[in-house]
Amino acid sequence: LETVARVDPELVEAVKGELQRQRTHLELIASENFVSRAVMEAYSSVLTNKYAEGYPGRRYYGGCEWVDVVENLAQERAKALFGADHANVQPHSGSQANTAVYLAVLNPGDKALGMNLAHGGHLTHGSPVSLSGRYYSFSFYGVNPDTGRIDYDEVARIAREERPKLIVAGASAYPRVIDFARFREIADEVGALLMVDMAHIAGLVAAGIHPSPVPYAHFVTTTTHKTMRGPRGGIIFTTREYAREIDKAVFPGIQGGPLMHVIAAKAVALKEAMQPEFKRYQERIVTNARTLAEALMGYGFHLVSGGTDNHLILVDLRNKGLTGRDAEDILGSVQITVNKNAIPFDPEKPSVTSGIRLGTAALTSRGMDADAMRMVARAIDLALSYGPDEKKLDTARGIVAELCQAYPLYPELG
Ligand code: PLP
Repeated sequence: LETVARVDPELVEAVKGELQRQRTHLELIASENFVSRAVMEAYSSVLTNKYAEGYPGRRYYGGCEWVDVVENLAQERAKALFGADHANVQPHSGSQANTAVYLAVLNPGDKALGMNLAHGGHLTHGSPVSLSGRYYSFSFYGVNPDTGRIDYDEVARIAREERPKLIVAGASAYPRVIDFARFREIADEVGALLMVDMAHIAGLVAAGIHPSPVPYAHFVTTTTHKTMRGPRGGIIFTTREYAREIDKAVFPGIQGGPLMHVIAAKAVALKEAMQPEFKRYQERIVTNARTLAEALMGYGFHLVSGGTDNHLILVDLRNKGLTGRDAEDILGSVQITVNKNAIPFDPEKPSVTSGIRLGTAALTSRGMDADAMRMVARAIDLALSYGPDEKKLDTARGIVAELCQAYPLYPELG
């Protein structure tokens, strides 16, 4: 950052501060990760200079011969990795990817069915505060109160009643395997199209650890950060039949020029995801999540659905007498970063909540293993189970410091 430091020392202070924060805190936010240096380099390349509205071979600007190579690489890798007919790698984010699918297949006012935000769905799956909920008429399915798992019979019942044009599967806070074949059955029965938002689990899907939605869904959207460990961004996969509609919906439908430097970084991340090491990385993410879940349950924490099949854990804090907001603050004070999260049927408001969501992708990128996860669980227990006890909080801080030192982050950045 020497050049930026000369131009903008104030800005560099903040970047350095953030690097230090990432190094000295345990990152347990389930949607975050640490990208490789290769991804970072591609992201900060000269490709940021180039306008390239359109698609490879059919652009609205001259001078696109090299960015065409970049976008083709990203597209081909995305298709090969996930076994899809068509990939649009231009969405600036997961939300843009979802919005483009809606624009492609729904008219304002059309019916859609998505997962309740309070049960683990995402804002863009029809929440009234998002464009999706304002422009389209969403109804919602959720999880069974006893099992914490998606109630597929209930999904089918609502689908039969509502007759949506589009069914949206996928979640931001669902710790269990999703049965995409069952979703497709339901969609077929009511004549709906199926969109799967695999943003959270895309890395697991790429590694074959979670069943792929690609054979079942008409549209699969994803983010490229989270478990995929790429730059922030989105991708849409679809069948040949809908390829043109999706491309038109992304550009010119909702976006202008693609961010070519981000697409380059997506291409790098996709290449990394094709290596055997990535599969082992994803396996470790899941083993770490299971270990952390078991250790937390050992300390008396209640987990929604009683555990996890993937990279994330939803903790129901009510038996600890804490809200999600309190827990987020207390854990922050011992340098463990989490987000408060609604649990299904949460009695608290969304700004307070009764839960926290934990994910293991970022800590696994630092190299942490099952033993480290047991230490993380102990630090969480010390921070949350004993009231405001400064000695316990100090012990928790000690564990965090020990782990951060043992698993350094970006040591080459000085
Ligand atoms: N879809 C799901 C399931 C998500 O969890 C998220 C982000 O948290 C998104 C979409 C949105 O992604 P972005 O933040 O890139 O818009």
